[in-house]
Amino acid sequence: MANIMFFSFSAILALLIFFLFHRLKSILNLFLSRKKNSCERLKGELERMLSENRKIKQVSFKLQGIFDEVMALYDVTKEICKALETERVFLSFKEEIKKFIRIDDCRFLEADADLSAYKDYTALPLEINRVRVGVLLVNGIKEEEAERFHILAHQFILGMKRAFLYQKVQELAITDSLTQVSSRRYYLERFNEELERSKKFSLRFCCLMIDIDNFKNFNDCYGHLVGDAILREVSKRIKGNIRQIDLFGRYGGEEFAIILPETDKNHGRLVAERIRQLVEEGFIRVYDEDLKVTISIGISGFPGDGKKTETLIEKADAALYQAKHAGRNRVCSYAKV
Ligand code: GH3
Ligand code: MG
Ligand code: MG
Repeated sequence: MANIMFFSFSAILALLIFFLFHRLKSILNLFLSRKKNSCERLKGELERMLSENRKIKQVSFKLQGIFDEVMALYDVTKEICKALETERVFLSFKEEIKKFIRIDDCRFLEADADLSAYKDYTALPLEINRVRVGVLLVNGIKEEEAERFHILAHQFILGMKRAFLYQKVQELAITDSLTQVSSRRYYLERFNEELERSKKFSLRFCCLMIDIDNFKNFNDCYGHLVGDAILREVSKRIKGNIRQIDLFGRYGGEEFAIILPETDKNHGRLVAERIRQLVEEGFIRVYDEDLKVTISIGISGFPGDGKKTETLIEKADAALYQAKHAGRNRVCSYAKV
């Protein structure tokens, strides 16, 4: 009986152990398969990250390339834009472009130049306010460098536009827009230079102040447009009859001034008389009107009448006043009373 019980107990125990072992095994298997899955997931994740990393490296390499190119372009542009004269903008472009791309030849020609000898060249016209001012010609550009060339050429065109505008502003600052003679500011600057030069080399020079007689009457009778046309014609006549070295400026409304370098007052008087006659001669034809225009002129001389710009201008003005007072259409030299 005891044996039977012992065997039964042993069998139950064995079954229990067997059952427990199987249970444990299936739990372990489950655990291991879960671990395996998560390991595979991690592995997949790692591989994905590694491939992303490779992609990032490639992009970063490309970006570095683009950055280097942009910086190089920036340097080239900086050089091109440093210059303010058109010739220098072109020379600097020509020098810089060769550092960046391979070309055979590069030229900048006037807008009306004959381009028949440049059929193989890439031509880029330069236009400012829709007016062609020149043509950039380049040859020998490789296809793979065409884009770079266009970026650089664009910078060149911007540099040229800047230089043209700068020239224009300079001209506007020194030229009177109505009469195209020197502006008062530029005239005075040059007056001071002439004064210094004459002092240094012991030279003489004359200052002429010119005023159109009864000009207000022309404006009142015929209008300001006619007045403007008279101003243009009188300045044209005077400009055409003085030397290259003489400086002619518009001093104010209908007043002009001239410096005659290396000229004494006696010679200055002769020049002034010739100018006066030139304006008085014949008629000035403006919009179908034949007008009789005259001028009065006052003269002062360096060094006799003063050694400062203001003094010399004042004295020429005083002489002009005398000419007006004496009846107009005449020349007066400054004389101490
Ligand atoms: P005077 O013989 O004494 O010099 O007499 P005037 O009439 O010439 O001198 P006034 O100073 O009385 O008049 C000068 C006139 O010039 C007055 C002004 O309106 C005119 N004026 C000044 N600048 C211009 C301009 O740019 N265009 C025109 N049309 N007129 C101008
Ligand atoms: Mg006046
Ligand atoms: Mg006048």
